[in-house]
Amino acid sequence: MTSILPDGYAVRLDWPVARHGGVRHEFTQFTTSLRRALRRAVGTQRYWATGPVRPLAVTVVPIGRADYDAHGRDCASLTCPTMAPLLGLAPAGAVEGTALPGPPS
Ligand SMILES: [Zn+2]
Repeated sequence: MTSILPDGYAVRLDWPVARHGGVRHEFTQFTTSLRRALRRAVGTQRYWATGPVRPLAVTVVPIGRADYDAHGRDCASLTCPTMAPLLGLAPAGAVEGTALPGPPS
């Protein structure tokens, strides 16, 4: 077994940050059930779809309870959990569409 997924899941929200030209993210709604996390992600996406500010992405990520509790809001780290492991992909930048835009010219 190569799978070493943590003991829980969270809904990850990626937010655009115009003045930094980057992306910030936060983790919400920790649960130990993948199915529940996926359901919540759908509900979360639906919730924000009607708002003036929308997340760039709403995804489900595997994350341990301790990591979830220690994680702050407005995080810009590229090493934080992504949904890549759930898709059987290598984490951190290996997923198309998650690359950060280049610096403004
Ligand atoms: Zn983070």
